[in-house]
Amino acid sequence: GASRARSEALHAEALQHIVGGVNSPSRSFKAVGGGAPVVMKRGQGAYFWDVDDNQYIDYLCAYGPIIAGHAHPHITEAITRAAASGTLYGTPTELEIRLARMLKDAIPSLDKVRFVNSGTEAVMTTIRVARAYTGRSKIIKFAGCYHGHSDLVLVAAGSGPSTLGIPDSAGIPQSIASEVITVPFNDIDALKAALERWGDETAAVMVEPIVGNFGMVMPKPGFLEELCRLTRAAGAVVIYDEVITGFRFHYGTAQTFGAFPDQAAIEPDLTALGKIIGGGLPIGAYGGRKDIMEQVAPLGPAYQAGTMAGNPASIASGIACLEVLQQPGVYERMDRLAAGLADGLADLASRHGVPLTVNRIRGSFSTHFCEHPVTNYDEAQDTDGEAFARFFRLMLERGVCLAPSKYEAWFLTTAHTEEDIARTLEAAAEAFAEMGR
Ligand code: PMP
Repeated sequence: GASRARSEALHAEALQHIVGGVNSPSRSFKAVGGGAPVVMKRGQGAYFWDVDDNQYIDYLCAYGPIIAGHAHPHITEAITRAAASGTLYGTPTELEIRLARMLKDAIPSLDKVRFVNSGTEAVMTTIRVARAYTGRSKIIKFAGCYHGHSDLVLVAAGSGPSTLGIPDSAGIPQSIASEVITVPFNDIDALKAALERWGDETAAVMVEPIVGNFGMVMPKPGFLEELCRLTRAAGAVVIYDEVITGFRFHYGTAQTFGAFPDQAAIEPDLTALGKIIGGGLPIGAYGGRKDIMEQVAPLGPAYQAGTMAGNPASIASGIACLEVLQQPGVYERMDRLAAGLADGLADLASRHGVPLTVNRIRGSFSTHFCEHPVTNYDEAQDTDGEAFARFFRLMLERGVCLAPSKYEAWFLTTAHTEEDIARTLEAAAEAFAEMGR
């Protein structure tokens, strides 16, 4: 097999200085049998190379933002130009207005937006704003959905913590955890029961409208419509976390995706964004209804600020990335390539007697080693983690890089080609043959 001696040596060194040797726990290989994570040094298009000069086809895509592939020339040029003019002013800029307008044009529920530095910050602030607006404190969320690492939403969170088998984080006071009610995704009766009990104390219902954190999971027909209706009837705010789903499936969000018969019935009050809208640089954004957003300082009493917020490099990178995504046919192409790959994987797995459920939504999909459908977190947990770990390593060995977690999706980019799909399926054929033995 390929040597990863230098990755291993660097990881040993990293362990001396960086906690766990990684700057985000999801990068560790703990959930796939341990050992040194691969240390990458360069990316170009759909590929990246590790420090031992092994090449990989990338389906991790940095957990989502790299939808245009690595080092896309248009995005690189925008970042370079921004850097050459100074990276931070601490004043408004013209460019940030442009990105705000691009987001508003694509997402009609955004009357007003604010830029922050990460998805975590965006979500965290929507909760504060909803609490300020309603004067209430409780939050209802769904099991297995991940909304970043702020205290409130790390209660029964998703892919990261569940992957590591930590249901909640240490360091979150019980008083905070007791403000959070968790119900199963796709279970409208459970939400109804929660709202009957706590509705008049509930500030917001927070949801990934299409889940990206325990696989890719669509809401059942009517789920979001009912969620919006029940939440508003209780006087609470509907918050969509579209950090993963924003600009993922089409030029817009889950809330503007053609999959729902009545788009108006599933419009949220507030939306959190991140990842793709920064084109690979740090960013987050939140926005929504004017009367709610006007709670935010300097107009209103809810405080939120940021030294780095709206920094010119992130904004320029985000605009350039959205411009790439505005090119005709890009989403159709990712859809087509992902369909070929997902169908091919399902077919190969079944030929080799490996149980596999594939949940595909246009250019991204999740692979669950199980026989049953995956529509909620319990079903996603009840899958064969050892089989995934084995598959992950067999694919890595063959130059295909997935996220080291059975819950994470595969992401296609505008840079992947038919040939990449064919090469990936060749690797998968060998991996499944090995596993079916
Ligand atoms: N919300 C969702 C749906 C996410 O998937 C993530 C990150 N995976 C976040 C929020 C947090 O974003 P960030 O890592 O940029 O803080």
